[in-house]
Amino acid sequence: MAGGAGATGGATPVAAAVAAAVGGTRVRFAPSPTGFLHVGSARAALYNWLYARHTGGIFVLRIEDTDTERNREEWVDGIISSLSWLGMEPDEGPFRQSARTDAYHRAIDTLWEAGALYACGCSRDEIDARTKSNATPGYDGFCRDRGLEREGRALRFKVPEDGTTVVHDLIRGDVVFTHEAIEDFVVVKSSGAPLFVLANVVDDIDMHITHVIRGEDLLPSTPKGLLIWSALEGDDATLPAFAHLPLLVNERRQKLSKRRDDVAVESYQERGYLAAAMRNYLTLLGWSDPQGREILTVEEMVAGFELSEVNHAPAFFDLKKLEWMNKEYLRAMSVDAFIEAARPWLAPDRAPWPPERFDEGVFRTMAPLVQERVGVLGEVPDMVDFLFLERPLVDEGSWEALSKDDSAPAVLDRALAIYRESEWSAETLHSATQALADDLGRKLNKVQAPIRVAVTGRRVGPPLFQSLEVLGREAVLERLGAARERLGGDRG
Ligand code: GLU
Repeated sequence: MAGGAGATGGATPVAAAVAAAVGGTRVRFAPSPTGFLHVGSARAALYNWLYARHTGGIFVLRIEDTDTERNREEWVDGIISSLSWLGMEPDEGPFRQSARTDAYHRAIDTLWEAGALYACGCSRDEIDARTKSNATPGYDGFCRDRGLEREGRALRFKVPEDGTTVVHDLIRGDVVFTHEAIEDFVVVKSSGAPLFVLANVVDDIDMHITHVIRGEDLLPSTPKGLLIWSALEGDDATLPAFAHLPLLVNERRQKLSKRRDDVAVESYQERGYLAAAMRNYLTLLGWSDPQGREILTVEEMVAGFELSEVNHAPAFFDLKKLEWMNKEYLRAMSVDAFIEAARPWLAPDRAPWPPERFDEGVFRTMAPLVQERVGVLGEVPDMVDFLFLERPLVDEGSWEALSKDDSAPAVLDRALAIYRESEWSAETLHSATQALADDLGRKLNKVQAPIRVAVTGRRVGPPLFQSLEVLGREAVLERLGAARERLGGDRG
């Protein structure tokens, strides 16, 4: 064990190649179910999945649920359904660490018998009291040579005092950790519960993982994993290749945080981002297409993806770019596909109108216009609710704009008169309104604004004259009249 697994293990890529030749690439996504699937974790899952598809290998899903205090069953379901939404079904698993306790205890026995562990009887307070003024933080090795019985005690790994462990990382190159800076870390709690660092390695060994692809927050614990690995498997063990992915940061270059930023994949799904756009966007957070394309089909991503080309600099999670990409995907859909994709947002639990007032035919007529305008599917109801509500939902800002517009009363009065007589088609309504604008000496869009607010309740929406045509004369006249009345009242 002396020297550490990676110290002499300069052959990591070779080892991985050997493993690949024998059994093919095996990668894993190993989330701890302590929350929603984080966008950074989804990116890690995606890079594993892409690499598996690129190499014709196997993508394993492993739920790291050893921390019973922080894990919740609904998070497991949420993670699995977000992965499935993004199109990443595992080839094997989900395996659960909670079902593999026996394997961890066997590994602990092996390590104990090999003299790689020792029992520690120190309490947290005792350790803190002894080490608070030490230059190197961490456990001071107090119990290392005390020969304590293991029963009822935490077990610590004896980290070699000298030497280094080197993590050969496909993205970062060699990262050297001196053993001096690594404390004798705990692998089993005094309760007998194995810790993450041990379970993680035992699983990677048992599951024949060839490439460990994960966030760079796990890089500091990697030498510990490698020390365990070689203590279990010997110094010439076949090690996996490592690829630690760059952090995701927000526009202020801060690490994405649960409290500050929207980080749950589920919330993007809920807001109406398309899975294909989300997947495409996540793929570009650290990797770029050698041909410089930004919109890529899954096949193109799979064909082009290489771990060695992943950038190690933090990747900016740019919401504007994600929205732009989503819009591109929305516009590229057929109208029928758009209607199907929008359907969940038109359902009674999400839409603001009474279900019986929804008219599929009317929605179909408007759909191509809506499709061109929305950034996310969650914006669809706002674009069409005026068609299915008895009265439009007039938002405050829009009403304020209308009531501050001096020409609004005249525009509404004239529109009422003209629309009563006009032939009812978008085209004639357009030219009649243009004539009204000319008459008042105003630009068409200035005249459209109060009409739009009166009829749809909002300042933005689908093209006005098509909207009027679809809504019908009666409802339009009624809404213009109601707005005019409210305006009169406001002014009086
Ligand atoms: N379960 C760990 C986490 O969610 C990941 C472990 C790994 O990928 O090696 O942070």
